[in-house]
Amino acid sequence: MLSKNIRDDFPVLERKINGNNIVYFDSAASTLKPKMVIEKLSNFYLNNYANVHRAVHTLASESTQILEASRKKIAKFLNAQEEEVIFTSGSTMSLNLVVESFVRSGILNKDDNVLVTMVEHHANFVPWIRLSKLHGYNVLAVYPSGRFGELKLEDFNVKVNPKIVAITAQSNVTGQLIDIKKIREKFPNAIFVVDGAQFLPHAQIDVKDLDIDFLVFSAHKMLGPSGIGVLWGKRELLEKMEPFLYGGEMIDKVSLDEITFNVLPFRFEAGTPNIAGIAGFSFALEYLERIEMKKVENHIRRLTEYALEKVSKIDGVELYGPLNESQLGILSFNVNGVHPHDIAHLLDEKFGIAVRSGHHCAQPLMSILKSQSKLDVFPNSTCRASFYVYNTLDEIDKLIYAIKKVKEWFD
Ligand code: PLP
Repeated sequence: MLSKNIRDDFPVLERKINGNNIVYFDSAASTLKPKMVIEKLSNFYLNNYANVHRAVHTLASESTQILEASRKKIAKFLNAQEEEVIFTSGSTMSLNLVVESFVRSGILNKDDNVLVTMVEHHANFVPWIRLSKLHGYNVLAVYPSGRFGELKLEDFNVKVNPKIVAITAQSNVTGQLIDIKKIREKFPNAIFVVDGAQFLPHAQIDVKDLDIDFLVFSAHKMLGPSGIGVLWGKRELLEKMEPFLYGGEMIDKVSLDEITFNVLPFRFEAGTPNIAGIAGFSFALEYLERIEMKKVENHIRRLTEYALEKVSKIDGVELYGPLNESQLGILSFNVNGVHPHDIAHLLDEKFGIAVRSGHHCAQPLMSILKSQSKLDVFPNSTCRASFYVYNTLDEIDKLIYAIKKVKEWFD
């Protein structure tokens, strides 16, 4: 387990909610921010901030250096090249960029096949489906055949030969880690787009080893600021792609007759970027690297195993996902006869425990959970407790106690 001192880095954990110490179990939505990231961000604004890449004055060049150092750090974290790291506002924008740019560039055409799965977050589902209506390509979905949304390798034994496979590396509802490497082996010729929004905060990734083509992720789910994320893409593909946004910075020459584009990565970064957000992302990575990603993963794994073991023993609680070692950091559940919003509300009000309730932007997956549910009525949503570096086993005990109490109140 990670040291308890880590909690001192997150002053918000001192807060009380209705007299109870706060227990923050909503990190899959967004993590808390360590003091170090906030202080470094504030220092950046106080001492170095200016617009980037344009002016020649000292502050502008300092700001540009900090931004480009962040790109370098992220590239190293992924085992990628700097010019392949594109800053966006987050995973959602990165995925929209990919889909829109594929159709504008003629990479994705009428009658092509795109393979997605039914466990995707809407960010990796809606853009593919919506643009297929306008451009005439097909979207096919892999259905999970395992326990409550668990994707199995054999689910990918499909007859089509997809041009693109778009898949999450970890479900934001069940916490299942998806074996991207093995799935990639089944589609060696497809362009592989991976949603890393949940995976990246939990474990180390190596884009070369995985042999993927695109990866998206968001800083706010891994201790960084909100409004900043990354699209990583293979250089040879990015070079063939039409930019998604047009404007300043992304051009080379502009006249009434001709417009040429800047080199990578700038051609995909029109306008003034989220300069402080980019700096803040590298401060967050620095913090995570100090802990070490392997220790982050081990800590979350221990919490998850403990929670799964304890919660699965509570009568009347339905737990979603594989319930084995492929489930990491996320625990989705329902209590028979109690709406998840009521549970979430009571956990907050009576115990200070923050969990998420709802469909978690994964309505297709909710329909799968419903089809296997033994509840009297499946509410098309779940309660989700998600864990991160600052959580402890004691906090999980509090959750167990609180779930039992809520259950009692409704029995
Ligand atoms: N993909 C997954 C698996 C997610 O969990 C999320 C956010 O919850 C997203 C994509 C979208 O991320 P963002 O809201 O940061 O764009």
